[in-house]
Amino acid sequence: PEAITVQELANRMAEKAADLVKALFKMGVMVTLNHTIDQDTAELLVTEFGHNIQRVSDNDVDIDHSADVDAEDTLKARPPVVTIMGHVDHGKTSLLDALRGTDVVKGEAGGITQHIGAYQIKTKSGDLITFLDTPGHEAFTEMRMRGANVTDIVILVVAGDDGLMPQTIEAINHTKAAGVPMIVAITKSDKPEFNPQKIRERLLEHEIIVEQMSGDVQDVEVSAKTGAGLETLIEKILLQAELMELKANPDRAAEATVIEAKLDKGKGPLATVLINRGTLKVGDILVVGTQSGRVRAMLDDKGRQVKVAPPALPVEVLGVGGVPMAGDTLTVVESEARAREVAAFRQEQATAKRTTTAPASLENMFSALA
Ligand code: GDP
Ligand code: MG
Repeated sequence: PEAITVQELANRMAEKAADLVKALFKMGVMVTLNHTIDQDTAELLVTEFGHNIQRVSDNDVDIDHSADVDAEDTLKARPPVVTIMGHVDHGKTSLLDALRGTDVVKGEAGGITQHIGAYQIKTKSGDLITFLDTPGHEAFTEMRMRGANVTDIVILVVAGDDGLMPQTIEAINHTKAAGVPMIVAITKSDKPEFNPQKIRERLLEHEIIVEQMSGDVQDVEVSAKTGAGLETLIEKILLQAELMELKANPDRAAEATVIEAKLDKGKGPLATVLINRGTLKVGDILVVGTQSGRVRAMLDDKGRQVKVAPPALPVEVLGVGGVPMAGDTLTVVESEARAREVAAFRQEQATAKRTTTAPASLENMFSALA
């Protein structure tokens, strides 16, 4: 594996070298600007700063996005992508269902609700919000380890009749490591044992100071059962999103991230993807992980056929040659020949890697961080 100096990596990432040194320090790696770091550490850093990992050095066959940055004037506002995390049984699934129930488009859809790993709602104000429907920090962490930073905002769910539990703390740590802003939802407010103040105080021990404690982390009391607080939670998500000025270029070849994928007996391989930038269209030729294909059809979470998918829309894609992996990037390419060439190259690489390397050290490094 290659090594690179901290300074050189900073230059390539267009980040301040001092910020990289700081981030490395937090990982327990003490270096100065001229020190070299190994490839795995470099990849972790790149991910940490929210960039995509590109190993351009080992080939010129694969797709290189590193020089492919969208110009400022091509960027347009896009909806936020939200992940819900928290301890088991604290009400993540119930909250996701309740939020889904607030969709103003729901009534007119006519299709059948699909569980495709993500859904998008239209709020009363007409704004769009995308929710990843796979709660839990495992999915979040796995995606990040694969270089996919799809989440803009984390909702930390804590049951107000319980307390901070092990998975609550893990979720806090993962969210902090990812540098993703958090909104605390203290749920089950309908229960007699509900004691949100206790939760707010316990959060202080983890350096989370919520608004109610004069901090700047938004918090809200909700009940998935009665619907109390849902509108406030939605307002807070939109406020957070506005502060972040989330943007993407919709007018280019699409790039998307696989949220989940499976083999359907009738339809063949199905991949749920979230569009990162560009617009995915029926007929587009694509490479996704080690697979190639052509978009035959797209379905949204309401089971409706979609002809074009803009940034932050989750869609199920039909027409991929095989089942890709969660976290894989989908890229639209110009020709089938090119798609097959890249897919074949990646398959070769994957086989070579399986036979020559030890378990990924990226994973070890991540658990050291948490
Ligand atoms: P998850 O494991 O975090 O996905 O939690 P679930 O959504 O499956 O909820 C766990 C349990 O808490 C279920 O029995 C739910 O019915 C219950 N629950 C979830 N939210 C609420 C709520 O707001 N109020 C009440 N009373 N019960 C809730
Ligand atoms: Mg659940």
